[in-house]
Amino acid sequence: MTKDQKRVIMVTGGSGLVGKGIETYAKSLNRPNDSWVFLRSSDGDLKDKEATRTIFKKYNPTHVIHLAARVGGLFSNMKYKVEFFRENIAINDNVLECCREFNIVKCVSCLSTCIFPDKTTYPIDETMVHNGPPHPSNEGYAYAKRMIDVLNRAYNEEYGCKFTSVIPTNIYGPHDNYHLHDSHVIPGLIHKTYLAMKNNQDLTIMGSGKPLRQFIYSLDLAKLFVWALDNYEELSPIILSVGEEDEISIADVAHLIAEAMDFKGKLIFDTSKADGQFKKTASNHKLKSLYPDLTFIPIKDAIKESCKWFIENYDTCRK
Ligand code: NDP
Repeated sequence: MTKDQKRVIMVTGGSGLVGKGIETYAKSLNRPNDSWVFLRSSDGDLKDKEATRTIFKKYNPTHVIHLAARVGGLFSNMKYKVEFFRENIAINDNVLECCREFNIVKCVSCLSTCIFPDKTTYPIDETMVHNGPPHPSNEGYAYAKRMIDVLNRAYNEEYGCKFTSVIPTNIYGPHDNYHLHDSHVIPGLIHKTYLAMKNNQDLTIMGSGKPLRQFIYSLDLAKLFVWALDNYEELSPIILSVGEEDEISIADVAHLIAEAMDFKGKLIFDTSKADGQFKKTASNHKLKSLYPDLTFIPIKDAIKESCKWFIENYDTCRK
């Protein structure tokens, strides 16, 4: 396809954290040849083959960004392994098979760094995805996601399809899931800080706060999804992450949130609670080698935006 040909880019899971980030970024690009379709589950259940076909027939996409997935925090991943496996396998199977049937020019699917082997060396890189079992807590989700990479290669070998995948680290931003007990670190902490302020209490954080993580802001990730759609030519996955030097402790994140929300209480680290893995460093070496000018929005600013969004949308957001 040349640059001046019209593209219809369909985003599955377009109403979620990542999809909304892409929607905001796509609007800012203002490219007249691109039209975007952002799907939500009420547009059709992607677990259902015929519903998926109907969506592809209706929108006739040329390109697909595939985000839709059953996602959840630690608690639901541990409790519903069967559903996480079966629903994600069904969604991915239907979306990729329709991409083949409808001759999609390119499909970029979303994996996650939490699908990497549990016992590994650090930093993890793209070559290690299948090197050993994932952590038992999320094996339903992880194995279903890993099969996307297997299918991408198989569809290419057998049908010549151009399917690839990206692997983001922990994502945060507007439209996140702010559930208190079954969410990711940043949205969970934002919600807890909000409640501590409202109830005039101190903020208790599970664990020592010492573990380190790499976080990516949904708007930075959005830019990288569009970059991958336009420029990333390999079938094998690529890690989309801030650098190893940008790992940050949970305690520092909690302090940034407290500062962003102007929280004046104390931060108490409950060391009787488990810390989880100390670090899970991912390398963004491949990304930096292909996109050397890449810059990220400073985490302080991005956390401020995320807190602001949560406060402004408290009544209606997922929590
Ligand atoms: P969200 O939970 O915010 O969004 C999930 C999206 O998938 C929603 O648009 C939802 O639609 C849609 N969806 C779920 N089930 C179905 C279904 N059966 N049929 C149609 N649509 C469905 O997730 P995120 O934005 O956080 O995640 C997007 C991708 O990024 C996922 O593939 C996830 O695995 C991956 N990822 C996420 C990370 C994170 O930290 N959040 C980290 C790394 C990877 P609706 O809301 O309308 O129901």
